[in-house]
Amino acid sequence: MAATRVPEVAETPASEIDATMRRLHAGQVAWDDTPLTERAAVLLRAADRLEAELPAWCGLLVKEAHKTLGDCVAELREAVDFCRYYALQARDTLGPRELPGPTGESNTLHLHGRGVFVCISPWNFPLAIFAGQVVAALVAGNSVAAKPAEQTPAVAQRFVGLLHAAGVPQDALTLLHGPGETVGAALVAHPLTAGVCFTGSTPVAKHIQRALAAKDGAIVPLIAETGGLNAMVVDSSALPEQVADAVVQSAFRSAGQRCSALRLLCVHEGVADGVIAMIGGALQELAVGDPAEYATDVGPVIDAEAHAGITRQLERLDREATLLARRALPDGPAGAQHIAPCAYELARVADLRQEVFGPVLHVVRWGPGTAAHGGAADVEALVAQINALGYRLTLGVQTRIDSRAQRIAHAARVGNVYVNRNMIGAVVGVQPFGGEGLSGTGPKAGGPLYLYRFCAEQVVTVNT
Ligand code: GLU
Repeated sequence: MAATRVPEVAETPASEIDATMRRLHAGQVAWDDTPLTERAAVLLRAADRLEAELPAWCGLLVKEAHKTLGDCVAELREAVDFCRYYALQARDTLGPRELPGPTGESNTLHLHGRGVFVCISPWNFPLAIFAGQVVAALVAGNSVAAKPAEQTPAVAQRFVGLLHAAGVPQDALTLLHGPGETVGAALVAHPLTAGVCFTGSTPVAKHIQRALAAKDGAIVPLIAETGGLNAMVVDSSALPEQVADAVVQSAFRSAGQRCSALRLLCVHEGVADGVIAMIGGALQELAVGDPAEYATDVGPVIDAEAHAGITRQLERLDREATLLARRALPDGPAGAQHIAPCAYELARVADLRQEVFGPVLHVVRWGPGTAAHGGAADVEALVAQINALGYRLTLGVQTRIDSRAQRIAHAARVGNVYVNRNMIGAVVGVQPFGGEGLSGTGPKAGGPLYLYRFCAEQVVTVNT
């Protein structure tokens, strides 16, 4: 692992962006005309190459994104799954479809790429989310201007190289590096941009939406997947050991740097003390340290800026909330960019005002005895309070009462509900992932309807 070198990547000069967009716009026509089976075959070749290069990818992901080895393998798996799943979906669902019509008339629905899609991706899944966006847009017949997070350019660079080697033409895919404020903004504002796919923060998604709306010319669609204030509801029938395991996985794995991560544990007052004690014990068992060590559960956060931001949020929690448990950090440089996994108790659901993108769990109690100070008296009131947070991404439910789990899942306005298990690590094709409200525009990555969002639809009617 020590031999892995992260290549230097230069920022794309502003003067190159217009020429790049024109080249991609011209290249899209030939790529869109390439038979669907060939576009799908390119993705299948890319998947095989990714799998064959597992050790090199793990080395790079540890170095550039500070991922633990377990997270590296899971991320590579997800990227491979995206390539294979979208290839098969494209072959099965994007071909022309004959529609019914009167005698003497044929009606055919054709799906095409929209043009140049701008894909802007985050650092927390620098391979899987980057790959998922790019290959979905490509296989649907778009050309792609890909702008990865500034923190993880080398992973993106390597993947784009792999796609070109697998058969994506140079004029169908270009990588552009640099800050969102400059390079990302110039791509969004460009007149040839036909669609934007963005994963990142809610404020940036709204900024992109405003920028697209402010442009002259065509109405440009946005696919956005953003953050979450994700809750887990625990009732008095839940199995405490199962809850503790699910909480530790969901809140602290990947150092809490997942938009799906558990932020707010809502535990029934009747079992709260026992559950909190068990989570506190489990938290002390987490191996916090060097992500390249096989045994490490929690590595550092992405960079010094993230560390400083989370530290400021923790200072506020130290003033406004009650610390329940905190894992000690290793001494010296090994702990320099780590945030100690911790849990704080809040009085009410509404006290959770912002996403802390790190290994920080908030806990509230609910039940009749909490109502006097704004707590939820029953599960219906609790779900209403969670819905009122406005984020609609993931929800965990821990109960042994099946009808209650179904009621909560129905009432909760979230994209992904996980019952009696952890609430992270959505599997491509199995748990299509994405949410609405403050959490995004709704499309489900890794789902059977996702590719349609990247397509333009045309119906040809012929009087025969
Ligand atoms: N799909 C990932 C999961 O289910 C989260 C993606 C993200 O953090 O943006 O955990």
